[in-house]
Amino acid sequence: MECLKIALQKSGRLYTDSIELLKDCGIEMNLGKQLNTKSLNFPMEILFLRDDDIPKYIEDGVADVGIVGKNLILEKKKNINIIEYLGFGRCRLSIAVPENFHYTRLDDLDEKRIATSHPTLLSAFLKKSQIKAHIHHISGSVEIAPNIGISDAVCDLVSSGETLFINNLKEIETILESEAVLTSYPHMKSSKKSIAEILYCRIQAVKRARTNKYLILNATNDNLEEILSCLSGSPTVLPLNNTKWIAVHAIIEERYLWNKIEKLKRLGAKDLLVLPIKKMMI
Ligand code: AMP
Repeated sequence: MECLKIALQKSGRLYTDSIELLKDCGIEMNLGKQLNTKSLNFPMEILFLRDDDIPKYIEDGVADVGIVGKNLILEKKKNINIIEYLGFGRCRLSIAVPENFHYTRLDDLDEKRIATSHPTLLSAFLKKSQIKAHIHHISGSVEIAPNIGISDAVCDLVSSGETLFINNLKEIETILESEAVLTSYPHMKSSKKSIAEILYCRIQAVKRARTNKYLILNATNDNLEEILSCLSGSPTVLPLNNTKWIAVHAIIEERYLWNKIEKLKRLGAKDLLVLPIKKMMI
């Protein structure tokens, strides 16, 4: 039987969230030290690779789909599809300089040495900004470069900013916002494509569930129209036996939750319940 090959980071920032996503998609697997494993209940083989290598494996069709940072797809200039932004592994590619570097504008980087593991993206940014700096390509521990005298600045991924802080660096320019994406081989054959489509649907259902909540409230008919206009989609309205009270069930985006709840309460909503959603298919 045909089997979809998915490339995941074998260790590092995206590993845990990638595994969690597949599990939430109902894909079971045995995890151990092996670098590839077959799902126990879905036609999928999971390949654990260095994240730097994933874009190339996808471009070559060695893996059919993969989860990798958008930054790496752009850095490696790979012609592969971004199917879905996954909402984890968020970070930014930023230029940072030592705390004592007197920085006022980009021109201050002219003729400076910048250490980075993202030379392609940095070079494009410097070219666009007409800055003539010297790029020093290193593959890891970039933040240490100014402290050991091999560069005047760095260009690296920043998430919490803690690593910059520990190394006495300050962030001065953001080049790119990034997050984990689902990517795919552009020339997948149709038998694999149909498995990939099932995976995409499951991932979308999980993503929607993660960003939405199920809201139940009771209200009287008096402000029903205002209450419904506060809720998006098609809320369900259920009359409560022999009273002028109704129950409203609705899906609500988590980022608007508290503001909407406060508004609904002002409109007379009572007995509000907010429930997590496991999966959301539309
Ligand atoms: P932080 O201290 O949280 O700002 O993380 C910075 C360090 O983690 C740097 O060494 C980055 O290269 C690395 N890093 C941060 N976010 C990511 C990410 N999304 N993917 C890969 N590496 C990351």
